[in-house]
Amino acid sequence: MAAGDRNVTSSQSDDRISIVCYHCDKPQDVSRKAQSLTCKFCYKSLKLQDESIQQYAARRAIETIGIVTVEHDVIVPAGGADRDRAAR
Ligand SMILES: [Zn+2]
Repeated sequence: MAAGDRNVTSSQSDDRISIVCYHCDKPQDVSRKAQSLTCKFCYKSLKLQDESIQQYAARRAIETIGIVTVEHDVIVPAGGADRDRAAR
C-alpha cells in the first residue's frame, strides 16, 4: 500500500489563487486556470498568463501576474511597469 503519496489537506481551494491587482492593489481570489480577468474592484483587465519578452521592451509596460521571462540580453529597467517610461 502506497500511503502518503499526496498530502491532501483541503481540496476546496485547490483551483483558486490569490492575486493582487496591479492597477488598484486590491487582493482577490481568481481561478488558477484563468488566463485573464477583469478586476472586480477597478474593472480593468488583468493578464494572468506568463509573458515572454523577446525584444527590447523598455517602452512597453510589463503587466502580468504571471512569470515574466526575458529572452537574450533584454534590459528591463527597474520598475518595468512604470507608465512614465512607456509614454516616451
Ligand atoms: Zn483592480
